[in-house]
Amino acid sequence: MASPVKKRYTASNSSVFDMTDVRRLEMATSLECLCSANPFKNVILLPLKFKNSNAASDSRGWTFNKAYCDVSNTDTGFLMADVFRRGFDLLLDVIKDRELPKTKSELIIEKKLLDFLLMDETVPDLEGLTETELIKFLANHLFGKLATTSNYTIDAKSSGKKSKECPCGKDRCSLSGRYGDTNVGNPEVWHGNVDLIVNNDLLVNLVNEESGGSSLCKDPQFIAQTIVSSFLQRQTHPEHEHFLTPSIGVRRKELFFMFYDAQHDVLLESSKIPLVKAMQPDKFNWSAIILSWLVVNYRFLCTGLTDEMVNFHKADFFQQALPKLEVYKEKLYVGNVEFSDSSPVINPHYLIKYNPYLLERKKKVKEVIEEVEEKISHSTIFVQEK
Ligand SMILES: [Zn+2]
Repeated sequence: MASPVKKRYTASNSSVFDMTDVRRLEMATSLECLCSANPFKNVILLPLKFKNSNAASDSRGWTFNKAYCDVSNTDTGFLMADVFRRGFDLLLDVIKDRELPKTKSELIIEKKLLDFLLMDETVPDLEGLTETELIKFLANHLFGKLATTSNYTIDAKSSGKKSKECPCGKDRCSLSGRYGDTNVGNPEVWHGNVDLIVNNDLLVNLVNEESGGSSLCKDPQFIAQTIVSSFLQRQTHPEHEHFLTPSIGVRRKELFFMFYDAQHDVLLESSKIPLVKAMQPDKFNWSAIILSWLVVNYRFLCTGLTDEMVNFHKADFFQQALPKLEVYKEKLYVGNVEFSDSSPVINPHYLIKYNPYLLERKKKVKEVIEEVEEKISHSTIFVQEK
């Protein structure tokens, strides 16, 4: 029997050629932010170190909302692109040479982003939504649309109506996810329900308003759930290449990302990312879209910690959790866990760590920006002369 003809994934079936120069420029500018030294536009990851916590309290395991974490950060920052090298390179290939991924899975993932950018989603007034509505809206119109499946689970214990109606206000827009049990952890250690689980493995939670006076949110609940999530990944998917696991924090019009690696004990928190454009609050900010895309597809696009993060930036969580470290490593569950504002986003004094990978990619992104800017300026002159 003849072998079936393999379907070729060519550029013709992608939205890449619908990308105008203005869109290419916007994408290139967003990528530049991911590797820029400019504190007014970059997104950096700061390593956090534990001083104290109730991660292994003798008496009982604490729920996420009662988690206590005293953490500090040093003056070292890393760039977000450094842990998403696969994702960054895929996007660079598209904007530089209009080149598409070679594998089917990467092509599907990349198309999710390109189609999303073409859709040009409208964002309702986020201030007018309740916290539960905000989570539902972002699940349905951002995270769920950028992930490989539109499956997500909203905490069934959340307040408000459990309707399938989407809070975006559009007619006939219904939630593609469901309500369910979002408990994770173990009653002996940190555990509790999270607001949203995307694609069965990415935790999303509202973060505390008060905790974010500074550029970092350092919300103990956010830290605790991220750590539990990474141990859970290590326990359920020991075959994965690395265990750097992100989770998403949402606060009004901002996103935060937190990462923990349960193998190397490194905890990183991102600077805040505005959800919508400053001059166009009914449109998502492209950096928020691209970063959300990287994070919801982290299993494919995240390349794990760099050697420097592993060797010099331990979180000392293993030490914190020592009496109960085995529970974190081996006994965590999902479901049925029984209970007993645009200023510089980060302090400009952080020493950003560059390496040959980042310097090389930064150069390439700059080349794309120059090329597209020149092309656009030529066409502008041409129109004026006509
Ligand atoms: Zn909707």
